[in-house]
Amino acid sequence: LQPHQKELFGQPIGLYVLFLTEMWERFSYYGMRALLVLYMTSSTLGDDARGAGLGWTSQEALALYGWYTMLVYVMSIPGGMIADKLIGQKKAVLVGAIVLCLGHGVLVLTDIWAFYTGLGLVILGVGLLKPNISTMVGGLYKEGDIRRDKGFSIFYIGINLGSLLATMTVGLVVAKWGWHAGFGLAGVVMVLGLINYVGGQKYLKEVGNFISTKNDENEVSYGALYSKLFSSPKQLTIVGILFLLSIYGWFTLEWGFGLLFIFLTAISALLIMIYKELDSQVYKDRFLVLLLSFIMVIIFWGAFEQAGGLMNLYTDTKTDRMLFGWEIPTVMFQSLNAGFIILFATLIASIWAKRKLKGREASSLFKMALGIIIMGFGFLFMVFAAMEFDKSGTSSMVWLVLAYLFHTIGELCISPVALSFITKLAPVKYASLMMGVYFAATGLGNKVAGLVGESASEFGELTIFSGIVVFTVVFGLLFIVILKPLKRLTHGAEESERILK
Ligand code: GLN
Repeated sequence: LQPHQKELFGQPIGLYVLFLTEMWERFSYYGMRALLVLYMTSSTLGDDARGAGLGWTSQEALALYGWYTMLVYVMSIPGGMIADKLIGQKKAVLVGAIVLCLGHGVLVLTDIWAFYTGLGLVILGVGLLKPNISTMVGGLYKEGDIRRDKGFSIFYIGINLGSLLATMTVGLVVAKWGWHAGFGLAGVVMVLGLINYVGGQKYLKEVGNFISTKNDENEVSYGALYSKLFSSPKQLTIVGILFLLSIYGWFTLEWGFGLLFIFLTAISALLIMIYKELDSQVYKDRFLVLLLSFIMVIIFWGAFEQAGGLMNLYTDTKTDRMLFGWEIPTVMFQSLNAGFIILFATLIASIWAKRKLKGREASSLFKMALGIIIMGFGFLFMVFAAMEFDKSGTSSMVWLVLAYLFHTIGELCISPVALSFITKLAPVKYASLMMGVYFAATGLGNKVAGLVGESASEFGELTIFSGIVVFTVVFGLLFIVILKPLKRLTHGAEESERILK
């Protein structure tokens, strides 16, 4: 048996190489992310062990945080394109990992140019690494292999193990040695991720090698797609309207939104042209259903990502965090999500797998809609928390634990499932691009979450939390109502999965 065909616990060993690489990458991402807002808002005087911060207002810090968390994921689109067209997924992950080491390394320096340069490099690095490593996981399995979904659940545990380790340790390092030591820790850990990836190459021989070459029947040519747009009047009109709306957005909102809308218009033009060029109705339908499922993705993360913002602030200021005479630090609540994932990921994956073997497996689309409903339901506990606070001036942390529990179960129904779904439905030559578009959708969700969270200062938490419950549950139910026709559009992509080696 070749090394890349060897298995461990019923999964290809390559999965564990990607698991560890992603675990260290996510450690560095979440570790740094946990510090970001705190570093920006802390005083420039450096009067405690953490050293000098940037002294920004919380509004300034949250604004940058919102753009940053969106951009890291939006950059997955160029990241996916670079892989498809130029270097393949395997090399894109390698380059991404190196850029991330540099980015976190630069953040160790205290100058403001280093801060912006570091953030910029992290955005580029994640954009190259994150979508492509996820597509590589899919590449470990042949079409129809029943192990694929479980493989993605295991991979998802790696993601959260990284996040858990980071949120438990980075805060302690900062308290003792200062902000830049915290950023440095993220950098050191990313070097481990890089070493692990390079060392594990022999288990990844067969994946991530696809590069679209000239005159090959699978050639991907974005230039050709764009130029064909100009000879397709219907498509050109749609793109033209989107472009005008973007310009309108530029002048009526911030310029940042204008730029974002123009970028999204350019991507939409590409997606419209890809749809038009796909040569069979099966591929066209699958492509369409994939894009529709991304609406669920935006809504899901738009609600879920209150965790780092509004719910975090709520924990800090309105929750009684005393337990047996000890006040639990606010940041620790951020570990609940990752902890619950690690506890429940395999359980949920095996429930689905058992049902599948009995021939009663739920479709990915159903799981995703269910995920939204369960997560939305979790916000009901935040409604109870806000009601308790309005009555008594404080609220119990039990509400938060229950809310995070439901959010996590919802996340497990949608997030690893969506990753796997994309690798089943996307046309092979656009696999990395579609993974990029998926992550960009999660990035937009992050931005939506920020905007919703910010509006809490106007409408109050009770209204926001109740609004989220109603909106997400109704939206999830609507998707379930239209499930049958949507499932038909997948043309049985999931119905014939079986044990394949
Ligand atoms: N928590 C997951 C991760 O870090 C999901 C992120 C996302 O899809 N935006 O990979």
